[in-house]
Amino acid sequence: MPPTAPTGRLAPTPSGLLHLGNARSFLLAWLWARAVGGRVVLRIEDIDRPRCKSEYRRQAVEDLQWLGLDWDETAPDQSTRTEAYRTALQTLMRKGLAYPCTCTRKDIEEASSAPHGDDGAIYPGTCRGKWRDAAHARQSTGREPAWRFLWQDPPVTFRDEIAGEVTVDPSTLGDFVLWRRDDLPSYQLAVAVDDAAQGVTQVLRGRDLLLSTARQLALYAALGLAAPAQWAHVPFIQDAQGRRMSKREGDISLKALRERGVDPRKLVGFLAWTAGLADAGLSRFPADLASGFRPARLAGTDFMLSDQQLAGLAG
Ligand code: GLU
Ligand code: ZN
Repeated sequence: MPPTAPTGRLAPTPSGLLHLGNARSFLLAWLWARAVGGRVVLRIEDIDRPRCKSEYRRQAVEDLQWLGLDWDETAPDQSTRTEAYRTALQTLMRKGLAYPCTCTRKDIEEASSAPHGDDGAIYPGTCRGKWRDAAHARQSTGREPAWRFLWQDPPVTFRDEIAGEVTVDPSTLGDFVLWRRDDLPSYQLAVAVDDAAQGVTQVLRGRDLLLSTARQLALYAALGLAAPAQWAHVPFIQDAQGRRMSKREGDISLKALRERGVDPRKLVGFLAWTAGLADAGLSRFPADLASGFRPARLAGTDFMLSDQQLAGLAG
């Protein structure tokens, strides 16, 4: 297939069991790709090696298959792609767009008098132009430096299929980490390098990553890589306590639902209903929902899942 074929991706992080919110995002990403006759890439985002486990990786793949999702290609796990990410970092260093940073989290919180972005305290650029190189930073502070992206104007503008036009001024998010002090690539760098390498043209993911799209677009521009053309950041499922579902202990996992004998067709129908795509109480194969799917058709707000609805699903 030519590299311009529409391509979506499923990108689970195996740091815990997949939950209903993950399942819904993956279902929607799959529907969008299939609705436009596109291919689907599965990519395991196990870059944060200390937090990821091979057991969760195996389970995530099994859960996606159980839901009825398929893919045309399995990309290399991110944990095997360190050299590609390092090459990208070196390109940015050569262009003067990456610099060593020895600040601790506490330094950053204190220095910025705590204006917060979407990802904690905004980095105020303390180490911009401060160190000649990593060795200088290390010798002067006794700390191993991280590497940050020197993110300067212009503002980044993109269209989100749900939120509409989004414009982000770099200074409102700050210079972000490219390479961690524990010698691991950052999420932003790995995702940008991989989406480009794998010919991804459309990205659908949780709304928590809306502003990260601006970071990734800045990286594509700096690296001279082709960026995905379309973006959709979807609402969450919240539990009865108003918390967004996460991989923390006790949140309902796909594995648990499956072990309770839940029919995956019923679950797919339920997830489609929570997203505003189908009437309540229907059982559906993913492929039944693909025709005519567009992210703009999705409900624009988080879905509040009551304990009763959850019990009904599992019962
Ligand atoms: N791996 C991330 C997750 O499971 C998704 C990142 C992305 O889609 O860019 O939440
Ligand atoms: Zn710093």
